[in-house]
Amino acid sequence: FNVPAPVNEPILGYAPGSKERELLMAALADARSKQIEIPMYIGVEEVHTEVKGKVTPPHDHQHVLGKYSIGNKHHVKQAIDAALAAKADWENLAWEHRAAIFLKAADLIAGPYRYKLNAATMLGQSKNAYQAEIDAACELIDFLRFNVSYMAEIYKQQPPVSPKGSWNRVEQRPLEGFVFALTPFNFTAIAGNLPTSAAMMGNVVVWKPADTQIYAANVLMQIFREAGLPDGVINLVYVDGPEAGEVIFSHPDFAGIHFTGSTAVFQNIWKTIGNNIHKFKTYPRIVGETGGKDFILVHGSAEPEISSTAIIRGAFEYQGQKCSAASRVYISKTVWPEIKELMLRDLATFKMGGTEDFSNFINAVIDEKSFNKLAKYIDAAKEDKSVEIIAGGNYDKSKGYFIEPTVLVVKDPKYTTMCEELFGPVLTIYVYEDKDFDKVLDIIDTTSIYALTGAVIAQDRYAIEKATQRLRNAAGNFYINDKCTGAVVGQQPFGGARGSGTNDKAGSMINLLRWVSPRTIKETF
Ligand code: GLU
Repeated sequence: FNVPAPVNEPILGYAPGSKERELLMAALADARSKQIEIPMYIGVEEVHTEVKGKVTPPHDHQHVLGKYSIGNKHHVKQAIDAALAAKADWENLAWEHRAAIFLKAADLIAGPYRYKLNAATMLGQSKNAYQAEIDAACELIDFLRFNVSYMAEIYKQQPPVSPKGSWNRVEQRPLEGFVFALTPFNFTAIAGNLPTSAAMMGNVVVWKPADTQIYAANVLMQIFREAGLPDGVINLVYVDGPEAGEVIFSHPDFAGIHFTGSTAVFQNIWKTIGNNIHKFKTYPRIVGETGGKDFILVHGSAEPEISSTAIIRGAFEYQGQKCSAASRVYISKTVWPEIKELMLRDLATFKMGGTEDFSNFINAVIDEKSFNKLAKYIDAAKEDKSVEIIAGGNYDKSKGYFIEPTVLVVKDPKYTTMCEELFGPVLTIYVYEDKDFDKVLDIIDTTSIYALTGAVIAQDRYAIEKATQRLRNAAGNFYINDKCTGAVVGQQPFGGARGSGTNDKAGSMINLLRWVSPRTIKETF
């Protein structure tokens, strides 16, 4: 069998007066006009409970879009039972039939569900129309279609040699047990990818999204069901993390975790799995993408417009809440004055506000906890005489969790905001003397525990080569003369090592191979 060759989903522009803009505005208005009840999905059941959580837009936190049912450990147990009950039929279904379900899901997102899913992402996660389009629509469609093509490749691969009188073959079995998908708020595409990539390879899944992504997760589940995903293959629960973990990480059939989230949570999970290792039938697969402290290095030969655009887009798109977002920048003193001027020119044009007004580039950060954390860093910078705030510095949570795009210039390349992950629209810049280029490479490599993304901007080929070599382990996705965000499925497989994760590249064959356990069969005639 050959599956359809994947191509990247074209990004819609939502220009004023366009049909797609009209449809998206209608979907936003429709979502805003109602209050929905969001159930958990366990096996065939839609489960409603008495205990409710509220969904509110981060940019308009008094507006209630819906209420979701909060479960407890009994629901987690039920979800595991439902998954295990669905397992035999699902794993025995020929892979072409599994593939068809996920290709149909991609088509549903590309077609009838596009605006509903984008609107849910814009309202629930405070993404502007463009950021929602490249995430919930394009990236998720790409994940589904490209993963199906990688899956087909995996099933085709067989040992190249079978001497006469024998036949060697490899069977790609799903894992023995269930997979737990723990998904983040910042990408609807990742929320969709983590459970589906494991399920595609014949696994059954218990899925717990971030509380702040439940609104769009609910739409995803409706899409998967409409695409024909059998009941119990993916079970969606909303349960407090530690309570869910207690049940999941001590269950004998726990076979793997597919995670995107914070480094601290991932490390705790890893420890718990280690402590409980004797309880499991099989060594669980641990696959995770965690934090980042992503850098842009601007060389003295850099082109200023390219540099300024890369920095601003890398740092401030989606309020700096991409794991890949640029948060520490090292700029040569030679080019800094011009780049600074360009950055300030562009930042002055940015409008901040709700996602329903398409002219707002900056929206709110995800919740009050994140807002308070960022405000604290900004306050500390204001009090520190060695730090200059050249843009932003204001914040306001009266209507939504708004933090102005803020640029700090520091004298100490190890200043706190150069080292710690802030996850918001606060960028720190260190200006270096050209003669210190080599030293700066060392500083970049040793300043943070993370290694997710990074970029070098330069025209001098020796500088590009030197940075690429010296920073070999400092980023899993490395960009030359570009911003450090916006990896495209099928083009730049995404993930990092060190404190940033297990580097099992999202949207790649490497990732899908983590969800199978091959059996080698030799038959002699
Ligand atoms: N893949 C996204 C990018 O390249 C980032 C994913 C994340 O934030 O986890 O921007």
